[in-house]
Amino acid sequence: MKYIIINEVTAIKEGFRVNCRNGLRYLTIPSFEETGLVKHCFTTRLGGVSEGIYETLNTSLKKEDHKENVYRNLERVCAAVDIDYRRLVASDQTHEDHIHVVTEADLGKGIIRGSDIRGVDALITNVPGIPLITFYADCVPLFFLDMEHQAVGLAHAGWKSTVLKIGQKTLDRMASCYGTKPESCLAGIGPSIEKDCFEVREDTVSLFKTHFDNWQAFIEQADETHYHIDLWEANRMTLLEAGVREENITFSGFCTSCREDLFYSHRRDKGRTGSLSAIIELR
Ligand SMILES: [Zn+2]
Repeated sequence: MKYIIINEVTAIKEGFRVNCRNGLRYLTIPSFEETGLVKHCFTTRLGGVSEGIYETLNTSLKKEDHKENVYRNLERVCAAVDIDYRRLVASDQTHEDHIHVVTEADLGKGIIRGSDIRGVDALITNVPGIPLITFYADCVPLFFLDMEHQAVGLAHAGWKSTVLKIGQKTLDRMASCYGTKPESCLAGIGPSIEKDCFEVREDTVSLFKTHFDNWQAFIEQADETHYHIDLWEANRMTLLEAGVREENITFSGFCTSCREDLFYSHRRDKGRTGSLSAIIELR
């Protein structure tokens, strides 16, 4: 139960809520729920119909899973949070920092129809009724809700996009499009690989050293050639620097690699695994 210690040390608000419904499990962020402004969730691997390495709630159509199964999975989890899965607008993730501003014209793109949203790791919208979806299996999911201007965003922060400070860039884009102020935003940092499970070499660390003045706060040397990076803390620092209030950031505390019972993990499963999703829709 390492995540509880992390929460105590950094005095972070309570974690994500684990919801159970007819065998389906999904996570929600209590602070987001309390606003009444959004429908949202982070999926687990439990409650779907996929088989084999995708057992059971794979949500990605880009895997070799049966399409019909992925649609049934998306339908189930979206129904649980009162979202029409056929309206979902999907990212097209490339571990960079491109952001797409989603409008009605994008409804269903990348899910039930073809998409011209290419090379995009973050999605934002201020239009009610448009559900956004991004995909994960160790990378860090970032959720954003601008309570003042009523806008939402999702960002896929793998280590490369964390280096590029995609969290800050998503907030910057929300600011230029919607007038978003970081201090009126709630943020969620979802299930992803934790520090102890994320081992890298010097080449990765050197990129963080280039982009973060305070890299010592989240990188630890394990031995002569290996390091551990705390991507949760790196993203938290990025959000704090951008102006998000500490008390408005919620962590899930779940490690995707440790919790094989709940999550897919790209590293643990050596790439042969399903996809988890972050989903959010403005009411
Ligand atoms: Zn772990």
